[in-house]
Amino acid sequence: MANNPYSKPNYRGRFAPSPTGQLHFGSLVTAVGSYLEAKSHDGEWLVRIENLDATREVPGASTVILKTLESLGMEWDHEIIHQNHRNSIYQAALSLLDTHGLVYPCTCTRKEISDSSITGVCGPIYPGTCRKKQLNKNHFTALRIRTNKCLIKFEDTLQGQVSQRLESDIGDFVLRRADGIYAYQLAVVVDDAEQGITHVVRGLDLLDSTPRQIFLQQLLGYSIPVHMHLPVVVNNQGKKLSKQNLATPIDISNPVEQLIETVRFLGQDPPIELRESSVSTFWKWAITNWQPGAIPQN
Ligand code: GLU
Ligand code: ZN
Repeated sequence: MANNPYSKPNYRGRFAPSPTGQLHFGSLVTAVGSYLEAKSHDGEWLVRIENLDATREVPGASTVILKTLESLGMEWDHEIIHQNHRNSIYQAALSLLDTHGLVYPCTCTRKEISDSSITGVCGPIYPGTCRKKQLNKNHFTALRIRTNKCLIKFEDTLQGQVSQRLESDIGDFVLRRADGIYAYQLAVVVDDAEQGITHVVRGLDLLDSTPRQIFLQQLLGYSIPVHMHLPVVVNNQGKKLSKQNLATPIDISNPVEQLIETVRFLGQDPPIELRESSVSTFWKWAITNWQPGAIPQN
């Protein structure tokens, strides 16, 4: 046990940014929400850089993200892991799923899928075209997992009861793309398990992904973390703030001001005097007075 850096605590949360740009207000909300949940439970908070797709990574972005967290006084526990160094670990999980006979190659093009499918909660539902084909699992095909009709249910701490039937709501989903890149759904589950994450706090945009992750957690024999999906920040066109729609990066010239704005978005009510305080005084207040019950659902 002593050698395992991830042994124990009752609460271990994480923040898992994709380094596709700098931290913006939307990602800060997730960072701060997950941090406060962890710290108010006397738990640990880990940071993981989700850079599976090198073509989407902006050089230097992960360094800037970490520096921004530091200047906001947010300290992480344990070592940071980077997903781009972990292909063999994802491959091992994929092989394990394959032993259940649930993984199959798919050679359909995007166009074939959208032409032959109905739209589910997350876009076109893959109609299972390649399920019965005996294709070789070579390196140039996507690999999908066979889903089923079972109802997957979970209780989100903020959103309440959520359920999906994967086969009809999502369809068989990709675990490894034809270009060899492991899918977020697989990597996130493997990493959360390996890091011993007990609580996942992230944006509401990922709520629909959770049943797929629970499905994989069940098949891989992992424990299922507690989930809390936070409201997402939208721009004035009602779109989720993202690095893709060029949300303005966080201004760290006045960290306390930024942090106050962030916790206010999360329904907290910091006293006026806190504006004049130091970052560490801010965190003392925020951790002691954190009220998850005041977070708006969306
Ligand atoms: N990397 C994902 C993102 O930046 C977050 C994944 C997660 O929290 O599960 O949207
Ligand atoms: Zn196919």
